Amino acid sequence: MVATTLVYILLVLLSFVLLYLLYLALSLNSRQKATAKILDYDELTGLLSERGFDQEVIRLMKENPNIPYFILDMDIDNFTYYRNIYGDEQSDYLLKSIAGLVFDVLGPEEAAARIRYDHFVFLLSGESEKLKSEMQSRFTQFLNNMSKKMVLMHFGAYQIVDRNEAVGNMRMKAVAAKRQVKGKRNELLGVYNRQLFQKQRTEIELSSSFDAALRDGAIEVYFQPKYSTQSEQIAGAEALARWRRTDGTLMLPGEFVPVFEHNGLITRLDFYIFHQVCKTIIAFKEKGIKLVPISVNFSRVNLYNEDFADKVIDSIKGYAIDPSLIEIEITESAYFENEELLADVARKLHDAGFKMSIDDFGKGYSSLNLMKGNSFDVVKIDQAFLDDTNSNGETSMVILKNILQLTKELNLETVAEGVENRAQIEFLKESGCHLIQGYCFSKPVPCGQFETMLMEKATA
Ligand code: C2E
Ligand code: CA
Ligand code: CA
Repeated sequence: MVATTLVYILLVLLSFVLLYLLYLALSLNSRQKATAKILDYDELTGLLSERGFDQEVIRLMKENPNIPYFILDMDIDNFTYYRNIYGDEQSDYLLKSIAGLVFDVLGPEEAAARIRYDHFVFLLSGESEKLKSEMQSRFTQFLNNMSKKMVLMHFGAYQIVDRNEAVGNMRMKAVAAKRQVKGKRNELLGVYNRQLFQKQRTEIELSSSFDAALRDGAIEVYFQPKYSTQSEQIAGAEALARWRRTDGTLMLPGEFVPVFEHNGLITRLDFYIFHQVCKTIIAFKEKGIKLVPISVNFSRVNLYNEDFADKVIDSIKGYAIDPSLIEIEITESAYFENEELLADVARKLHDAGFKMSIDDFGKGYSSLNLMKGNSFDVVKIDQAFLDDTNSNGETSMVILKNILQLTKELNLETVAEGVENRAQIEFLKESGCHLIQGYCFSKPVPCGQFETMLMEKATA
């Protein structure tokens, strides 16, 4: 009797334990499901998340094999600027209202997501030939609403050809298409095409052969001398990268610098050129050749690396070189992307003894503010300014003369770039510009030739 009761109690206990385990398993499963749901949707806008979108695209394509689809990428121009001006709350409100409009655009068997920040993506039905007109009719109301809010958006479309391609790849192609029209006011939609495909292939090829190019010395440094306007003797130079192809021809930076700025490899290129320049200066020094400051271009991309200034300062320590023999050129437009960051970096490098130079002044917004901080030593006036002295006559000359007057009062050295003829030289001489860099005196030349020129034509 006692034994039967014990067995009975044990059985009851066991069933409780089993029930509890079952409960645990079920609740874990539903929690996993809830987490998955959160990951599939964007909390702020209620649209799909990146993960949710990719899954939905696969599902919709499978369920609708006869619908032609395209991926549409979309983002707001200068959203960071908008957030800085209006704050987080207002910016989130804008994103939510965009999501509201997105739902209006969306048809059945289509999908939309907010990937991150102001970046939205759609799966829309449509034929490639009619893409532009289709987009126009669908998005007119949407864009009208946006322009009332003073918001400009750009789009990139990729017609899906291979449904087995990874959705992430498809999205990247739409982003590449959008990049073609980025910053344009009258063209809001870029469409992925064969040309773009070719361009992306070249980008991949360039990037994948970069390491080997550095290792094998295929990246060469050319030097373009800068001449004193008064004495017409060499008083400096700019180091410019060249890539020697296997067939012996040279590739100019216009072909690879934008690619590397885009994928971040530019920082490695810039430091490579920096080290080559340091080695060249040491070699000149050992040969007793008159030393002149040599400038190195550092892309704005470097500014996003917190250690950038320290890395430059550390790098020169390996050479017995006075930092004032190295001029660091950063383009003027860097100022508009991150004013404080540039000011900080420039101050640090200037304090460490480097010559700091504002490159391409006049190409963008001609920021006089940059000259205020005492962190820059040199202003390089862009060629576009000089071009204007030919076509626009008086006005450009007056502006240029005044810039030269201002820089003089601020004790800044001035270099005119892209000077091609005698009339420009005379004008710059009269207006007090210090240095001239341009084809009128010399094109960029290989190191050996520069060395010969230095021995023949260098001033103190
Ligand atoms: P930049 O810094 O403005 O360099 C001056 C460019 O103008 C050089 O082109 C030079 O060959 C060209 N140039 C010089 N004088 C004249 C002239 O009288 N007339 C004309 N039409 N052009 C002239 P390059 O070497 O093709 O370089 C183009 C740009 O590539 C450079 O513009 C610079 O922004 C970038 N770059 C070159 N090397 C590097 C590098 O090592 N790092 C980075 N970040 N950028 C580089
Ligand atoms: Ca430059
Ligand atoms: Ca320049």
